[in-house]
Amino acid sequence: MLASDIRVPRFATVDLRGQRVLGTHAVGKHLLTRTDAGLTLHSHRRMEGRWVTGPADLRTGPAHQIRVILRTADSAAIGVRLAMVEIAPTTEERRWVGHLGPDILADDFDPGLPLPENRPLVEMLLDQRVIAGLGTMWAAEVAFAAGCSPYVRDAQVGAALARIREQMLDSVQGARPRMNVFERTGQPCRVCGAQIRRGRVGRPPQDRVTYWCPVCQGDDSHAVR
Ligand SMILES: [Zn+2]
Repeated sequence: MLASDIRVPRFATVDLRGQRVLGTHAVGKHLLTRTDAGLTLHSHRRMEGRWVTGPADLRTGPAHQIRVILRTADSAAIGVRLAMVEIAPTTEERRWVGHLGPDILADDFDPGLPLPENRPLVEMLLDQRVIAGLGTMWAAEVAFAAGCSPYVRDAQVGAALARIREQMLDSVQGARPRMNVFERTGQPCRVCGAQIRRGRVGRPPQDRVTYWCPVCQGDDSHAVR
C-alpha cells in the first residue's frame, strides 16, 4: 500500500503504508480486510456504507462521508459512509464476528443447519447470532419461499434458505432480484393475487418490519398499516 487515510478519530494515526492487502473476508455485513503485517481493518456497511474500488487515482465523495482511503500503485479502495471502522491484530478478529452465526453466503453454509426452536420465524432469521447476513428483505423472502407466516414457530425452512441463498449469490453478482413480498404492501401476490401484508417482528426497540402474503403464508392476523 502506498497510502492509507483512516478518518475515524480513534485510528486516524494508524498508517498502513508498506503493508500488502491479503484480501477481504465478509461475515454477514462485517468486512475484514487483512494485511500481511497481521492487521485487520474491520468495517461494517450497516444500511448505506459501501466500498468503492477502482484505479489508483479514484475519486469519490462527498469528502465528509469518506471513512477510509487505501491506495496502491495501481488501485484504490475508498470506504464511504461505513458505520464502523476499527483496526486490530488479525488474531483478535473474533471479538467482532465471534458472536455471529454461519454466514449465509459462505461456500460451506449448510441450509439444513439446526435452528433455535420456538421462536417466530423472521425474528429468528434476523438474529445474526443464528445466521449472519440476512436482513429484513431476504428474511421476508425466505418466509414466503417456505410458505410460512413470518410469525410461525418451529418452521422447516432449509429448502427455502437454500433457494434464497442462490438468489442472494446472484444479486452479489449483479442480478436484480425480483421480490415476492418485500416492500410490496398492498400489491397483489405474484402467486395468488392477494394483497401483500406488512407487520412488525421482534420486540421494540429492536423490532423490524416484515412482509407476507396472507394466503400463500396463511396469516391474516398480524398486519399493521
Ligand atoms: Zn399469495
